[in-house]
Amino acid sequence: MSTAVVVGAGPGGLVAAWELVRTGCDVTLLDAWKWPGGLLGRAQVDGLTVDVGAEGYSVRGGTVERLLTDLGADDLIATPDPGGAWLQTAGGPRPIPKRLVFGLPADPGAADVRAVVGEPDSGDGSRGPLSAATSFADVVRAGYGQRVLDDLVCPLVGGVYSTWPDDVTLAELAPALAARIDAGTPLRDAVAEAAAQAPKGGAVHGITGGMHRLADLLIDSARASGTLEVAVGEPATGLERRPGGWRVTTTKRTLAADLVVLAVPLDRALSLLGGPPATRLTASRIEVITLVLDAPGLAGEAPRGTGVLVGAGVAGVRAKALTHSSAKWPWLRAAAQGRDVLRLSYGRRGQTPATAGLAPDDLAALVRSDASVLLGRDLPEPAAVQRVAWHILPPGTPGLAAGRQWLTGQRTDGLGLAGAGIAGVGLAAVVSQAREEIARLRGNTQRQGSSV
Ligand SMILES: Cc1cc2nc3c(=O)[nH]c(=O)nc-3n(C[C@H](O)[C@H](O)[C@H](O)COP(=O)(O)OP(=O)(O)OC[C@H]3O[C@@H](n4cnc5c(N)ncnc54)[C@H](O)[C@@H]3O)c2cc1C
Repeated sequence: MSTAVVVGAGPGGLVAAWELVRTGCDVTLLDAWKWPGGLLGRAQVDGLTVDVGAEGYSVRGGTVERLLTDLGADDLIATPDPGGAWLQTAGGPRPIPKRLVFGLPADPGAADVRAVVGEPDSGDGSRGPLSAATSFADVVRAGYGQRVLDDLVCPLVGGVYSTWPDDVTLAELAPALAARIDAGTPLRDAVAEAAAQAPKGGAVHGITGGMHRLADLLIDSARASGTLEVAVGEPATGLERRPGGWRVTTTKRTLAADLVVLAVPLDRALSLLGGPPATRLTASRIEVITLVLDAPGLAGEAPRGTGVLVGAGVAGVRAKALTHSSAKWPWLRAAAQGRDVLRLSYGRRGQTPATAGLAPDDLAALVRSDASVLLGRDLPEPAAVQRVAWHILPPGTPGLAAGRQWLTGQRTDGLGLAGAGIAGVGLAAVVSQAREEIARLRGNTQRQGSSV
């Protein structure tokens, strides 16, 4: 029997803890916050339990669905309304074209792409050879032109990654695409190849009742198969190697363990392991505002399908994205009983969210006005407004790549790393990396055990 401490109970840490328990480890899972889940956040709004962090997962690679199957929860897989989402561009609202890769069209001449950006533009090829180190914005301008950048790429990159295409390199945002381009594939061919490999049909699924349930499913399953202590409100404050294992200090006690998995955001992992000062990172604040309102017929009509991503230069809107949650998820529509649930998000790297610091009445007025513009109709005053702030490290944050490189070098047989800081953004990447990391650690332990 070995012992493990997993630091951080977001999806990376939860999956790591669950895997460790399944291999017979006694696990203590620590989290700084009041409850486990990290960005699998939940809140009660007007009597409804809603997701305020991740609300779905990419079906890419089948990793999350495989996990749900292993948890015996595949009957909970929810598919969103097929209506699709829209873009709000300076030219007005348009449905999001199909077959986009980070906002880049696989077929720039397709009718749905032309409806957004006009006639195909062969781009400004004068920017020299593209490489992984080129800014994503320059890649787009070179290959597709400014309209694709403003109307397709900015909304996708802002809405999903909370950053600006000018502030992030091709490799930081899209490593697989960067690898193709560095191997000599022309940009448009690389985009078309990536689109051909993307999953068919809806690219995102969710969980009936909300994505936050994944945290409960993992904890319940781990407890049913072994020993898991979940200690919340107890941040790790120190980490020290000792002969044959680790000593983890928290705000409440000192724990000894054979194995440690760090599944905290990269800045915390660097400070726990004493990373060099050059790798200090500044987090960005983003805010998610949930509204519940009584607007009869709105969910049924779904004027912008499942939601709207906002392009560059759109006047009169401060939000970067709106999800019409009660139109997107059938389970939520049923639970809302005629009410509508909208979720708006604000803030990108280097930009304070427009909602930050607003008093409740001003907040309600701003989000109601944004939602009215984005849905194309005058909305009533919301029955409830709920605000959550997250501090995240979007791709392109200065020092992120160096920090990740330093941290990866600290991995040992007894120290594992999990979470988006290592795996990249999104549940699909985080889940598969955490499972692989535990397989690596347990493979090492078992090999050592058999040689003793
Ligand atoms: C608003 C928002 C919406 C998103 N929506 C989606 C989506 O729909 N689908 C999707 O696939 N991805 C989505 N993402 C991305 C996805 O949520 C993340 O990539 C994923 O949650 C990262 O998981 P993680 O375990 O690395 O980190 P986190 O979820 O950030 O968890 C890290 C945990 O570490 C804890 N912690 C920090 N310091 C300490 C310490 N010293 N000791 C102990 N614990 C500590 C924190 O309290 C936290 O619980 C979204 C991200 C955001 C910000």
